[in-house]
Amino acid sequence: MCDRWPAQPVCTACEKRFAPLRRRCRTCAVNLSTSTAGADLCGACRTRTAPLLVRSCVAAVDYAYPWDGLMARFKFRGEPGWAGPMAALLLKTPEAVALLQTCDLVVPVPLTPTRLASRGYNQSWELVKALHRAAPNASGRHNALSDALIRLGEVPDQHSLTREQRMRNLQGVFAAHPLRTAQLAGTHVLLVDDVTTTGATLHSAAQALLQAGARQVNALVFARTAPDG
Ligand SMILES: [Zn+2]
Ligand SMILES: [Zn+2]
Repeated sequence: MCDRWPAQPVCTACEKRFAPLRRRCRTCAVNLSTSTAGADLCGACRTRTAPLLVRSCVAAVDYAYPWDGLMARFKFRGEPGWAGPMAALLLKTPEAVALLQTCDLVVPVPLTPTRLASRGYNQSWELVKALHRAAPNASGRHNALSDALIRLGEVPDQHSLTREQRMRNLQGVFAAHPLRTAQLAGTHVLLVDDVTTTGATLHSAAQALLQAGARQVNALVFARTAPDG
């Protein structure tokens, strides 16, 4: 991000400036640092009526400069190596380490087969592997399963939709892999994704995991967008 690149992809100064630890909403990871209330839930999560399928969500950074640009390179320009510095930043978030230490199974949010074939890698699985490489001890007893979930089909572009429309749009988009349901049964699953906006994708993926017998689902994402609207 600065003149220390490429010796250090993210140097200490940039990390301090662009990835400060933030107080975040416990269930959607939105940045609460500007809110004066001491609550650990944002307004939207306090008034939610939908069932809470993702019990808690942890993010390392806000989806903003310079992370938005780096994430575009990570995802769209064939630079999976960014998983390393991103995993390192996640591991500096105490809540992320706690989730890694308490889960039984780490599962990346999958891409559709078409998307995976064109990209050549799933960025979320790259993050899972980088977390393991960076902190083999933090992730001690759990397993990681790249194929526990299947993404069934393309959905229309999510960007222009409201949260409610996104939720509907994603109904039934994920399913547990039929050969993995025995491994999912009764487990505490940690879902990993690169970015979350409304949480609709995580919610939909969690639904498939819980239907397959998982006991609890939490989520770890590298970046969280600013609050809706
Ligand atoms: Zn720097
Ligand atoms: Zn929230």
